[in-house]
Amino acid sequence: MVIKKEKIDKILEGYNKKDITIATLCSHSSLQIFYGAKKEGFKTVGIAKKEVPRFYDAFPLSKPDSFIILDDYKNITEQSDELLARNTVLIPHGSVVEYIGSDIYENMNIPVFGNRNVIGWESNRDMERKWLRHGNIPMPEKVANPEDIKFPVIVKYYGAKGGKGFFIAKNYDEFMKFKPSAPFTIQEYVVGTRYYVHFFWSPITDDGYRISRGSLQMLGMDRRDEANIDEMYKLGSQEYLRTLDVNPTFVVTGNVPVVLRESLLQKMFDYGERCIDASVELFGGLIGPFCLETIVTDKLEIKVFEISTRIVAGTNLFISGSPYSDMIEKDLSMGRRIAMEIKKGVELNKLSEIIT
Ligand code: ATP
Repeated sequence: MVIKKEKIDKILEGYNKKDITIATLCSHSSLQIFYGAKKEGFKTVGIAKKEVPRFYDAFPLSKPDSFIILDDYKNITEQSDELLARNTVLIPHGSVVEYIGSDIYENMNIPVFGNRNVIGWESNRDMERKWLRHGNIPMPEKVANPEDIKFPVIVKYYGAKGGKGFFIAKNYDEFMKFKPSAPFTIQEYVVGTRYYVHFFWSPITDDGYRISRGSLQMLGMDRRDEANIDEMYKLGSQEYLRTLDVNPTFVVTGNVPVVLRESLLQKMFDYGERCIDASVELFGGLIGPFCLETIVTDKLEIKVFEISTRIVAGTNLFISGSPYSDMIEKDLSMGRRIAMEIKKGVELNKLSEIIT
C-alpha cells in the first residue's frame, strides 16, 4: 500500500523549506548524491547499517554532515521522527528499495524524491512491459513458456538484482538445467551493443527539451561491465566452457562511459519522451532520474530491455559532468541535478509536484 499523497503533502507543509536535509542510504550512488546536495547548499544525512562506513573519510567532499545508524535498513521508520524534524527528503537509488523492502518503502511516512507509485510498475517485469508497450517502445520479445524457447533467450528475475542469477538458454533443455527458483521472465536475447541512457524528467521546468509536460534532459550514458560474460571469451567459446560447467553470468561489477552514434540520439529522446508520457497516463508520471537500458542492433534498431526508475550507478562516472551534460551546464552530475530540482521545487513552491 502506497502512503496517501495528502499525508506526505501535509508533512511537507510543516517543513522549514529553508532548511531541507537530503538523505539517502550509504550505498550505490550515495557519494554522488551527497556531493551534489552539498554543492547546492543542502544539509546531508547518511543512513547506514550497523556502523559509519569508513570510506566516506576518503572522499571528504561527499561525506554527509551526519549519519543515522540502523541495525537493519528495514527499521528505517524507527527514525522517521528524527528525519522529519530535520526536514528530510530521501533520495531513492538502486539499493534503497532492495534494502528497505518495497512494502516498507511504499508506505513509510518519510518524503521521497520522485513518484513512489512507480514501484509497482518496475518491480514486476510484466507491469514494466505493459508500461513500455503503452508507450509503444520496442522491447525484446517475451517467451511465455519455457517449452516455447525457439531462439536464444535470457532468463531474468524480478526486481533490481544487478543481473544476479540470470542465464542464457537456447532451448528448453538448457533452460531446465538451471530451473529458476524465483519469479522470472524469459526474453529474446538481443544481439547488439548496450547503451544505458541516463535521463532526467522535470515536470516543473518549462525550458530546454520540452515534452507534453515539463522538460527532458539526457545527462549521460554508460555501459555495464558484467562478470563473467564480458570477458569469458578469453578462456574459450561459450559452448566449450559450458562443458566445463562455466556458464555466462551477468553480475554488474562496474561501468564504462559511452556515447551514442549521433544519428540515433533523436530516436533515444523519442523513447525517453514516450516512456514519460506513458508513465503520466498510467500512474501520474515518473519524476526525476531514470535510465533506459537498451541494445542497438546492427540494423540500428533500439530495443529497451529494462527501465530503471531512479538514479543508476552508471551516473557515478559523471560526477564532474559528461559529454552530454557538459552541453547543458558544467559540472552537472545526476546527484547535483536532483538537488537542483528540489531547490527549484522550493523556489517555485512546487515541492509537492516532485516529492511523494
Ligand atoms: P538492474 O536492475 O541493475 O538494471 P537487472 O537485475 O534488472 O539489473 P537487467 O538490467 O534486466 O537486470 O539485465 C542484466 C543484464 O543482462 C543487462 O545489463 C544485459 O547485459 C543483459 N540483458 C538483459 N536483457 C537482455 C536481453 N533481452 N538481451 C540481451 N542481454 C540482456
